[in-house]
Amino acid sequence: MKTLVATVGKVRIGSGFPIVIQTMCNTHTDDIEGTVAQCIRMRDAGAELIRITCPGLQDVPHIREIRDRLRAAGVDTPLVADIHFSSETAIAVAPYVEKVRINPGNFHKNHEEACRQFSRLVGVCKEHGTAIRIGLNHGSLGERITALYGNTPEAMARAAMEWIERCIQEDFYNVVVSLKSSNTIVMVEAYRLLAATMQERGIVFPLHVGVTEAGNGDSGRIKSCVGISALLQEGIGQTIRVSLTEDPVRELPVARYLADRYDGRLFSSMTALSLEDGQAVATYDAPSREKLLLDVACDFGKRLLDRTLDDVQLRGCYRDEDGRTVSIEDSGLGEYLRDELMQAARRRFYKPEYIACPGCGRTMYDLQAAFEAVKARTSHLSNTVIAVMGCIVNGPGEMADADWGYVGEGGGKVSIYKGKTAVLRHVPDTEAVDRLVELIEQDSTSTGR
Ligand code: SF4
Repeated sequence: MKTLVATVGKVRIGSGFPIVIQTMCNTHTDDIEGTVAQCIRMRDAGAELIRITCPGLQDVPHIREIRDRLRAAGVDTPLVADIHFSSETAIAVAPYVEKVRINPGNFHKNHEEACRQFSRLVGVCKEHGTAIRIGLNHGSLGERITALYGNTPEAMARAAMEWIERCIQEDFYNVVVSLKSSNTIVMVEAYRLLAATMQERGIVFPLHVGVTEAGNGDSGRIKSCVGISALLQEGIGQTIRVSLTEDPVRELPVARYLADRYDGRLFSSMTALSLEDGQAVATYDAPSREKLLLDVACDFGKRLLDRTLDDVQLRGCYRDEDGRTVSIEDSGLGEYLRDELMQAARRRFYKPEYIACPGCGRTMYDLQAAFEAVKARTSHLSNTVIAVMGCIVNGPGEMADADWGYVGEGGGKVSIYKGKTAVLRHVPDTEAVDRLVELIEQDSTSTGR
């Protein structure tokens, strides 16, 4: 797919350039030392763009200081300021970063006013050579667009096109667009729709692709690879982020794998494949467990999402950390990876579906520990979608179609949501997992689930 090319500092995003990998700080932006140190670790781990949250005007001087210290330390990795609602903050920070990430639909409830504020931001970005990412997430589409199209992939693509048309009217093309969801089917469909619509329009902006709130560990990696690889195989996606609820540096090897694979520098360790009646039998000879996991997710994710395949059996071997050869069947890894793959492609749910944000500078508690605690106590609850979110400002809106939500308020307190409704607020974090499990169990008793 031939796209325009966005210029983000020294980095080019678009057709003819390698896939760009990026990540995001989870430090508090007013912790300048900590954020600079994390940026340097990210750069050393291969990050080509680094996003930092900018929750309000008070953080603009912090972003400026972080940028200055990084540049003084010889780190020229372009910085992206992450803005959620405030156009004033976006306008104020735009001169000091290489890109601003916004959802312009959130600038104002009145669409015309949101458009006016977007135009002001575009003016500042033009003046300073700053790029814009228009980032729309499934969980946070505005009321106006969901009233017209529902909370659907079509609504995501249509909302993006409205802002793309604005950019064209403004003669501003230094733009990247993203449409993320934690649901792999929704995110793949939304990006496909948008890519097709832009092609019909005759102007294709580069796309930032990711599965948002993918969780952590094997599940987060497999889910991310299923969604992202399905699109990269079709030429959709010029920059990627793998969002994990872990140290963000750990996102980068997975992102590097995906970029190398779909730029043609890396190949699957699959050595044989038979396909019959929607069933695949695949044999691997993988250099590591990690490589096997990523290969399997990329080899079969798109086929499972598109229902050109119904099941897969995994055979062969991989090398463990001590270089010993381990049988995929005898170790049970084949069955486990098949279950994870089927769940990531939303074909069969063998455990709860977890939605967990990666955390950012807005996170006011130990998100990673809370997520592990919630998983440990709820792993028996299949057919349940449980979200663990890092902040009360954006978490509830972002957790999309979760049945239950555990949302950190800060100050040692947690809100518990049933669907979109907060059923308990200000619960001490020492009790919050117990309360969540009690509520889920009471609910399943009363509904017979
Ligand atoms: S939901 Fe998570 S990633 Fe999103 S703004 Fe809040 S803390 Fe950051």
